[in-house]
Formats: sequence, C-alpha cells, structure tokens
Amino acid sequence: MADSQVATTIAQLVAQLNQWRTEYYTNDAPSVEDAEYDKLYRQLEDLETAHPELIQADSPTQHVGGELDADLPKVPHPIPMLSMGDVFSMAELAQWDERLKKSVTTPIDYNVELKIDGLALSLVYQQGKLVQGSTRGDGNIGEDITKNVKQIKSIPQTLSQPLDLEVRGECYMPKAAFVALNAEREANGEVPFANPRNAAAGSLRQLDPKVTAKRNLATFIYTLIEPERFNITTQHQALAFMRELGFTVNETAEVQATMADIDAYIERYTSDRDQLSYGIDGIVLKVNQLPVQAALGNTVKVPRWEIAYKFPPEESETVIRDVEWTV
Ligand code: NAD
Repeated sequence: MADSQVATTIAQLVAQLNQWRTEYYTNDAPSVEDAEYDKLYRQLEDLETAHPELIQADSPTQHVGGELDADLPKVPHPIPMLSMGDVFSMAELAQWDERLKKSVTTPIDYNVELKIDGLALSLVYQQGKLVQGSTRGDGNIGEDITKNVKQIKSIPQTLSQPLDLEVRGECYMPKAAFVALNAEREANGEVPFANPRNAAAGSLRQLDPKVTAKRNLATFIYTLIEPERFNITTQHQALAFMRELGFTVNETAEVQATMADIDAYIERYTSDRDQLSYGIDGIVLKVNQLPVQAALGNTVKVPRWEIAYKFPPEESETVIRDVEWTV
C-alpha cells in the first residue's frame, strides 16, 4: 500500500475508533461489540507499527479512556491510571512471556487474576477513612465520584488500620443485578443497558448518589499504590494486605510460574465463566515481584509488566444465561 493510502486508512480507523470510544467511555452506550472494536484497534496498531511516522496525535493507541463527563468534578491522578496490553491467543501470550523473561535479570513468576468486566476506580483513605473516589477518566484526570462510592456496600468507609493510602480496583454490576435493572428499565420504557460493564459505568458516573445506591454495584480491589511504604514486595502479598484492611479482593488469584499452569487457569475460567456471578472478559498476568514491575515501567498507555488474555467473543455478549451463579 502506498504511504498516502496507509495515511488515509489510518485516519479512517482513528475516526471510527474514536467515535466508538465516545459512545463507550463517555456515553456508557456502545453501538458495537468489544470484539469488533478490538479487531479494528489491532488493524490500526499493526499499521502504526509498520509506519510509526504516520501515528496521529489523536490515535486511540496514544490515549487512555475517553472524554470526561463535563458535569462531574475532576480529580488528578498523580500516578496515572493506565490501560492494559492485550493478546487474543495462548500462542501470543507465550510470546509475550518469552519476550518479558528475556528483558529481566532475575527469576519472576506471575500473579494470575481474573479480568473483571467493569470500570476502574481509585479510592483514597486518610487515617483509615475513605475521603475520595474517582474514575480512571483519561488516565491523568478522573471524575470525582466520592459521594457515589460511599453508596457501595463492598467499599469500606473505615479500614482496619488508620492508614493513609490509595487503592485501585474494578467496580462492576453483578449479573443478577444487571438482569433486574434492565427488566425495570424496559418496564419503565427506558433504554436497557448494553451489558453489565456499561450498566456499572452508567450507575457509578451519576450526579445523584441516590441513583448509584439503588444499583447494587460491587467491587474487587487489586492494586495497592506505593506498596513499598507497607514493606510489600509482591502483588500476591498486596492482595492479602488489602483483604486484611477490609477490601473485597477476588479469591481466584494464583501465583503461577509456567505457561502450562497459566494455560490450565485460562482453560478453567474459559469454561467456568458462565457460573460466576459477575462478568469477566479475560485473565490478567502480572509480574508478581513488585520491584521488577517498577523496573519494567510503562509505555505511554500500558504497563510493561502485565497483559490481558482476552476470551474469544461469546455468541452474543449481551446474553446472560439463566444459570446458578456462585461468587
Ligand atoms: P481494558 O479494559 O482492556 O483493560 C484495562 C482495564 O482492565 C483496567 O483499567 C481495569 O479497569 C480492568 N481490569 C479488570 N480486572 C483487572 C485486574 N484483575 N487487574 C487489573 N486491571 C483489571 O482496557 P481499556 O483501555 O479500559 O479498554 C479497552 C477495551 O474496552 C477494548 O479492548 C474494548 O474491549 C473495550 N472498548 C469497547 C468499545 C466498544 O465500542 N465496544 C469502545 C472502546 C473500548
């Protein structure tokens, strides 16, 4: 393809993806399935890798999230809230593991976690009291949702120790709450939410905390900011520490060293995901050793020390099957 043709294709992909991002991040109402977005995003990434001189400043590969809600107050994130790299096959995951292990000088293992299908949030505590909640926003600036997070039962107002700290995690809507909410919306003649992720985002990014309170949102917390202040050296220890402080931490995380064990974990949750009471869209591998994470650092958009393996799309991601769900 001639350069001018590549530039045109890149411009078209950027325009289409940015329109979908506004629908998804800003309006909480996507018009296409994630798999369709991911397919075009990959095409754009491949073209940009082959032609780095044609990368546009407004390319979605250079930015986290979308425009912020103009009506919500803003909160800076001194430590940015980033996105995550992703792969779509076990073979790609094995290549990522191989490249990563070549770039580090000490042995590592991974904390393997479920990728919860919700939206990221940050919680700040002073002397053990919840003082601020915010969304990821564009990564550097989030939306202030302090009043709203105070309505979520799984978020402790007071920690078991009077510490100053920040944690991050995922806010999600359990499947049963999503089905009930959409039934209510349809009965009231309102537009139903496309999926539990968008229902969670729409419910958390509300001006009226009473609306959030009615929506049965839940959280799993998975990131401790500045873990070295608490002498914590692995992601697995960080999860245990946050659990002790009173946060709800997903119980399925496992430390794995080999690709065979990681593949088995992926296979288990590819088949068991329908039985969970919450949506997952993949699994996340995080280098368990926090000093190694710090040494690897981040690109402009994603940490180098973690990767998401995304599940293949289900027939219809919006169909929630009528099964017994366990937490
Ligand atoms: P992402 O959702 O693929 O991955 C990063 C996010 O994963 C984090 O911000 C965090 O919120 C979440 N996460 C869940 N469990 C986690 C765990 N255990 N540890 C760490 N993080 C965890 O990246 P993104 O930038 O938020 O969104 C990009 C994705 O959003 C796309 O791949 C696409 O699937 C979807 N999207 C869809 C549309 C659409 O129109 N359908 C538009 C834009 C984006």
